[in-house]
Amino acid sequence: MEKFTASLVKLGEWIYAIDQQMVRSFVIVGTESALCLDAGVSPADFAGMIRSVTDLPVACCMSHTDGDHTANLNAFSRIYIHPAERPLLTQDRYAEGTEIVEISEGDCIDLGGIRLKVVECPGHTPGSIALMDEQAGILFSGDTVSYGPVYLFGGHRDPDKYLESLLKLRGMAESGKFDTVYPSHNTCPVSAEIISDLIACAQGIKDGSIIGQPSGLTFPGAENVLLYTYGKCGIYR
Ligand SMILES: [Zn+2]
Repeated sequence: MEKFTASLVKLGEWIYAIDQQMVRSFVIVGTESALCLDAGVSPADFAGMIRSVTDLPVACCMSHTDGDHTANLNAFSRIYIHPAERPLLTQDRYAEGTEIVEISEGDCIDLGGIRLKVVECPGHTPGSIALMDEQAGILFSGDTVSYGPVYLFGGHRDPDKYLESLLKLRGMAESGKFDTVYPSHNTCPVSAEIISDLIACAQGIKDGSIIGQPSGLTFPGAENVLLYTYGKCGIYR
C-alpha cells in the first residue's frame, strides 16, 4: 500500500489527530487514560506520536476495519471493536496477546472526564460505530458521516442499513446530543447538518433521482463505481 506521511495535529483541548492525508485517526486524552480511534492507513510511529502528548495508558477503538484504519494496530495491547466487525479483523493485523474487547450500542468508554458512548451505525461495514461525547456535543463518526465520498461499493456494504444509520444519527443530532462531527476523511470538523445532505444523497441513489457519474475508481471486483453527489457530500456506489 502507498506510504503516507503521518503528523500529529492538535484539534482541541483534548483531541488530536494523526493525519495521514487520506485518513485521520483521533487521539482522545482523558484524565485517566487515552483512546486512539482507528490506526491509520500505512505504518507510522503511532506509539511515539501518542507518547508525545500523554503518558496515560492508551487503547485503540475501531470505528470499522477497512484497511485505511488498521495499519498500526500492533502499537496497542487493547482493541475495542463491535462484535459484527470482529470477524473482519484478521489476526495478522494486530499483535499476539492483544486484548480484544467487544463494544456495542450504549457502551461507554470512560477516559476520566471524557465519556465516549458507542453508537452503532452499520452500513459502510456491518459493525461500523461512532463515538459520541454528549457533554461536548461531538460525534466521532468514522466513515459514516463526512463530505466523503463515502465508499458504498464492494463487499460488506449495505446501502439500506447505511441510510437507516444516517436517519438515526440525524435524529440524535436534532434532539441535541451532538452538533459537531469529527470524520475520519475529508474536512474536520464539520457541522452535523451535513448528515441531511448524505441522507438526500443515499435516498437519491435508492429512488433513482440522483444520477451517478463515472468515478474513475477501479477496485478488484468493482469496475464501474459511480459517484453520486448532493450538496458538498458524495457517495461512491
Ligand atoms: Zn476509511
